[in-house]
Amino acid sequence: MFLKLKSAILKKFPMLRSLKTYIFIIMLFIGIVPSMILRVGIMETYEDRAVAVRKSDVQTQFRIIANHLLLYNYLQDPSSEIINAELEQMSNLYDGRVLVINGNFRIVKDTYGISEGKTVITEEVIRSFKGENVSKYDPENSYIEIAIPIMDTIEQDSSSGKVTGVILASVSAESITQTIDILNRQALILEIVMAILIFGIVILLSHLLLKPFQKVTQAINEVKDGFTDEPVSVPDYLETEHIVEAFNQLISRMKVIDDSRQEFVSNVSHELKTPMTSIKILADSLMQQPDAPKELYQEFMQDITQEIERENKIITDLLSLVKMDKTEAQMNIASVDMNELLENILKRLRPIARKRDVEVVFESIRPVSAEVDDVKISQAFTNLVENAIKYNKEHGWVKVLLDADHQFFTVEISDSGIGIPEEDYEHIFERFYRVDKSHSREIGGTGLGLAITRKAILLHRGSIKVSSVEGEGTCFTVKIPLTYIR
Ligand code: ADP
Repeated sequence: MFLKLKSAILKKFPMLRSLKTYIFIIMLFIGIVPSMILRVGIMETYEDRAVAVRKSDVQTQFRIIANHLLLYNYLQDPSSEIINAELEQMSNLYDGRVLVINGNFRIVKDTYGISEGKTVITEEVIRSFKGENVSKYDPENSYIEIAIPIMDTIEQDSSSGKVTGVILASVSAESITQTIDILNRQALILEIVMAILIFGIVILLSHLLLKPFQKVTQAINEVKDGFTDEPVSVPDYLETEHIVEAFNQLISRMKVIDDSRQEFVSNVSHELKTPMTSIKILADSLMQQPDAPKELYQEFMQDITQEIERENKIITDLLSLVKMDKTEAQMNIASVDMNELLENILKRLRPIARKRDVEVVFESIRPVSAEVDDVKISQAFTNLVENAIKYNKEHGWVKVLLDADHQFFTVEISDSGIGIPEEDYEHIFERFYRVDKSHSREIGGTGLGLAITRKAILLHRGSIKVSSVEGEGTCFTVKIPLTYIR
């Protein structure tokens, strides 16, 4: 659900996937967040400090007045002009209200003149009557409430005297909140200026930082559009170097694939053309001799048929190879009795072997059943046995040996033939490769047999190895897992 939402948002706003956006967000956080935290911290410290100073200031002033109140016996007789003037002055000075409360919780003086004679029993007043200096800051309405006990002794030592009354003052803290507002506003302006600055720096920086990546894109595009074949090089960062290296490797791999494809196409055309050329020559020479004897016609026609058969074989082999080059989904895996499969192959090939006077022997160490695609695997073993017969000598032999362990089955096809030179081992599996081209052609080879065989074996996750002694014989060893590995 979350991932879906995320991908939908990213689709709608592709800018969010840009590295530039990330750099901007990171820089903004690094630049603005600490200064915001700093601002909040400084403001709170300033507020606490300013309120504490104001409280202590007011408390000192009112303690002096409390002494005056005692001197003038104000709690009993609140008519003293001097004290009243002093209280009014305080009230004006701190832009607040002063209440003087006597021992009966009755207000004897209110500088606002509205509550005189009333009784106040608030928590602050009660605590103050117990001798405490009580104060409370209300930042919302920006005022400080302070309750100062009036002691019956001049010393103002709260532990020794008795509290006879309380001065309750509400003083304005407007100047503090105003200062905080001004400071906040200035900090905000500074933050906005900083954000604009960061924005500018980020645009510049991201442009500089991401330039090598743009170079990579540009260089890759130039190769893609065919303007250059040169390997790309952007050594500015290690990262760009890695990207470019991977790209260059990809390009060289594609070149190899392209080269081998081109070689294959030219080989195919050449191979397909050869029988055609022979047919044309045969037909032309017949046409030039309208009175040629019937026997010559028959002989030439036989040759033409042979060439057509050859062409047909090349095309069939090519189709098999192309089919196996496709995905493995086309594997038809089933449990197959390998003894029976090999016996059938040999049965089919024995007449050809007999024609060449080659003896074919099958030896099986144990019954083997394996998960294989029987069509493909039959083709692989047929090609190997056929080669062993084809590249053999007169009175020669071919031996097929089947064995298995608990994981693999092996088939060894050995012959007493002409052998393969060691330097050709790695090439014989290539398409159209033949050790002796004319000899192979003579005996009807297409050069595709072993390529098909190897492909079929690899599709079964197997391996094929060759060992040979020139003039003595060859042995192909095939090893395939008993259970098909998907
Ligand atoms: P071809 O159709 O020419 O037989 P293959 O791909 O089957 O093509 O074999 C490639 C080449 O490997 C052959 O042309 C031949 O030179 C050599 N070769 C294959 N099998 C044998 C073998 N049993 N003995 C000797 N040479 C072999």
